[in-house]
Amino acid sequence: MYDLAIVGGLLINSTSKSYKDIAIRDGKIVEIADQGYLDKNQLSKAEIYNAKGKRIIPALVEPHMHIKAPLGGTVDILDFDSASKCAAFGGVTTFIDFTSTLPGVPLLQSVEERKTEMEKSLLDYSCHCKVVSLITPELASEAMIAEWKYSQSKDPQDKAKVLEANSLIEKTINDRLEEIPKIIKNEGIPTFKLFMTYRKASVMIDDIHLLKVLDAVKKNGGRCGFHAENNAIAEYNEEIFAREGKLDWKYFPEYKPNLCESEAVNRVLHYAELLEAPVYFFHISTKESVEFIRQAQKRGVDVIAETCSHYLMLNKSYNIGEDGILYLMSPPLRSEEDQQALWKALDDGTLSLVSSDNCTFTRKQKEAPLGNGPNDFRKPISGISGIEERFTLMRWAVEQQKITEHQFVKLLCENPAKIFGCYPQKGCISVGSDADITIFDPEEVSRLERSDLHYPEELEYSIYREFEAKGKIVSTIRRGEFLVKDGLFNSEASHGMFIKRVIS
Ligand SMILES: [Zn+2]
Repeated sequence: MYDLAIVGGLLINSTSKSYKDIAIRDGKIVEIADQGYLDKNQLSKAEIYNAKGKRIIPALVEPHMHIKAPLGGTVDILDFDSASKCAAFGGVTTFIDFTSTLPGVPLLQSVEERKTEMEKSLLDYSCHCKVVSLITPELASEAMIAEWKYSQSKDPQDKAKVLEANSLIEKTINDRLEEIPKIIKNEGIPTFKLFMTYRKASVMIDDIHLLKVLDAVKKNGGRCGFHAENNAIAEYNEEIFAREGKLDWKYFPEYKPNLCESEAVNRVLHYAELLEAPVYFFHISTKESVEFIRQAQKRGVDVIAETCSHYLMLNKSYNIGEDGILYLMSPPLRSEEDQQALWKALDDGTLSLVSSDNCTFTRKQKEAPLGNGPNDFRKPISGISGIEERFTLMRWAVEQQKITEHQFVKLLCENPAKIFGCYPQKGCISVGSDADITIFDPEEVSRLERSDLHYPEELEYSIYREFEAKGKIVSTIRRGEFLVKDGLFNSEASHGMFIKRVIS
């Protein structure tokens, strides 16, 4: 017997559309039939949901977000419960966050901690495993000082100290590398995130260690993803800009120019080529990076990349003026020319998906580190919301004919599920898949004023307030259960479950 049937709606997938009725049992899609042709014997006890006049798409997968993310001594305002609500109103039923790894902490420990935190989710969930600097700053400097002393003294006692420090480093690194197969195979987390910047916070991974991780992840069937920004350019410019008094928000994009991103992207592409390893790029923002990726793909490098909704919708003009502080994120917003290159790359497949990189801080939180001082882009907490807005923003893109409604499904549902290893369980509407379905009214306008959104009350602003589009979500279904039904949130919904992922 079926539990639920969605009837009368227009089903849109990544290649076609047609009027279909969909039957659900035990959280799975069990039958898809032409209208009026579902197996009547199975329907007697089913709830019938009338989707006449509505459109039906696979629920969205959010592959890049930061919830309960400690940053600059504070934490963003969402937890996995409140994030679930925002996400559900944005048509999302599966999200993938990150572990919060610190140097010296076992990766598996941070995976377990994150999984426990994510249990509160109403959405199904997973996380990417962050790999930050493999060794602590203490250990690194001890070894360097010992090497230096020995190079000067040639004293055997100093040599012993070198060996001791190096063997401790080797052990620490090997301990981390040995965790990688366990994380991929036992935990079902095949994707990792490495940072090429934030050296001062010990988040950046040394290039030699980066190669080791890239190789270990490749050998065990995983994929490394990168926050690609050249650390030297960022640190150097920070000093120069401070000296010249160019610290207002409007200078922020210049301090991390296009080259800052594209050099790091190109470097990783070369590493990927060297090791024949698959790679992923988070938040691609520049035309130069797009071109490097396009050329690498032509050479046969296994590279997949995303951009984020803010790079598509907003450009660096948003950093001008008092509200400029709200639009600080790394990489920074770019020019209109870059935006055009991103749209083109989504269209020709160079970029495969659009994430939100959601990280929601209040204006008060962002401004707090400034005290009563002048604007200083080095100080505020950066990050931008988007987990709820992404649906409407990309509907706007459909309306503007930047993408088709089929590309919408591909970029926000199908590709993230495929790339991150939970397809066809997620990301499509087909028999045997989880019944993760988003239903929207194509005629009703969705707005993004603050009062339209479901972020916690303390959030004072809406970043995308001037955007609106036809296509308002009426219902979001996760494994056959309504998270949002006819515009109302179901706070009684059961908890989500951890999704073990495998990538081919
Ligand atoms: Zn991010």
